[in-house]
Amino acid sequence: MSSPATLPDRVVPDRVVRNRIGGDLLDASDGATFERRNPANRAVVVSVAPESAAADVAAAVDAAEQAAVAWRRSTPTRRAEILSAAARILDGRAAELAAEMVAEAGKPLADATNEASRTPRNLELYAGEAYRLTGATFPSDDTPLVYSVLDPVGVVGVITPWNFPLNMASRKIAPALAAGNTVVFKPSPMTPLMGDRLAEAFAEAGLPPGVLNVVHGFAAGALLVADERVAAITFTGATATGRSIHAAMGLGRRVQLELGGKNPVVVLADADLDAAATVVARSSFSLSGQACTGAGRILVDEVVHDALVERVRALAEAHVLGPGDRPGVTQGPLVDERAVRTMVDVVQQARADGATVVCGGEPRTGGALAAGNFFPPTVLTDVGPHSPLAQREVFGPVIGFERINGLDEALASANDVEYGLSAAICTRSISAAQRFAAEIQAGMVRVNRPTVGAAFNAPFGGIKQSGTGMHREQLGPTVMDFYTQLRTVWMGS
Ligand code: NAD
Repeated sequence: MSSPATLPDRVVPDRVVRNRIGGDLLDASDGATFERRNPANRAVVVSVAPESAAADVAAAVDAAEQAAVAWRRSTPTRRAEILSAAARILDGRAAELAAEMVAEAGKPLADATNEASRTPRNLELYAGEAYRLTGATFPSDDTPLVYSVLDPVGVVGVITPWNFPLNMASRKIAPALAAGNTVVFKPSPMTPLMGDRLAEAFAEAGLPPGVLNVVHGFAAGALLVADERVAAITFTGATATGRSIHAAMGLGRRVQLELGGKNPVVVLADADLDAAATVVARSSFSLSGQACTGAGRILVDEVVHDALVERVRALAEAHVLGPGDRPGVTQGPLVDERAVRTMVDVVQQARADGATVVCGGEPRTGGALAAGNFFPPTVLTDVGPHSPLAQREVFGPVIGFERINGLDEALASANDVEYGLSAAICTRSISAAQRFAAEIQAGMVRVNRPTVGAAFNAPFGGIKQSGTGMHREQLGPTVMDFYTQLRTVWMGS
């Protein structure tokens, strides 16, 4: 930890991030900070942020409570105008935000640009929701008018991961604000700058002080969850973290968890193998395998196993590793050194369990990659269905092929994991695709499409240990259910 007075001289001044509490930019009450280094070059400090203590998180919840009274009375037009104005501000800064995301999160520039430009669309979508908080009327024998209205929930805690630092946070904060809630936002400590840039746009758009507060740090998430004044927590992150949050939330506080996955791609014998190889490679190596919907298990009919492995190996080896802002780079670094060590351990364990490394398997440290967290696309075969590689989320570019014989075996094996987030099948058979879509245990199913990707207006989430199974309340037409509570009124004359 360093104090702001001793910042490393490589930090650009406007990348010193502060908490945003009640409209003020504040250091942690005890002055503690943490650094975020560029995952492609660990010598460079990209951002420095406060390591918030209990008093800081409590102050943010105080501010959100105080601002709640006026904000819940704000008109739909005011909410919509602020969200739309924030969208325009983010649109105007998309290139700058993408460049900062490359440095802080390690994404290739094309992926960062995609995220920076689609984030404002979330704000526009939820600006419209401010006008659609409709209730209903009910015929009644008792009284002439029975009706329901949608109220805000209160203070909403938003806790997000680093891998979609703008998009993920925006699709939680925007509906919360549109419904008249106030928010305490806890960005990932891997991407504090991105979290701050998002909140900055809302502030510049005219959001009143205290309606959106931001606290940074490694401990702030648990502190926010522990504060009983926070009426709802919307969380995206690892399953282990989600379990601890779920256990801490008692009766009367609502919680939405979107967690990890071990997402299968099933390739049947009748599949177009070139197309299937592309589906497998995109599912597995997009964002260096650091997508919640990324595939880890490739279940292939034994008839086409070797031919598919060969095609996927060629696509894996065609990836160009490097810093995300270098031309031609298709795969950036892993988020930190610990993630690289995890990949090394995963490969070592899989080999010990009898798997064969087809390509990759070791960190890349040569030349321009020396100071970064680089691990290449890695393909293993002969992976046992109950081995750790087949069962546990890896969150990196390491995949395991398993042989199956027909759809029954594929379904049985694919469902034999604790997760249920995303799943894909490659086949030319409509009936096989339909049966897979009906019987696979997953919140999202793709046919001849990669497991990754999302539509910003369609439900997104998982079942089993991949979340609370309430993804109809995360994206899509019923998303506002999470951010509102229903009041039924019997109106007498
Ligand atoms: P993480 O769980 O380590 O951290 C997520 C957030 O939770 C961070 O802001 C972190 O500081 C905070 N946090 C940590 N401990 C906490 C606690 N005890 N209480 C409250 N908050 C706490 O996850 P990560 O490494 O940032 O992200 C990777 C994980 O997220 C993967 O497992 C991935 O599958 C998952 N993910 C899921 C989805 C989805 O929609 N299902 C999307 C993206 C990522």
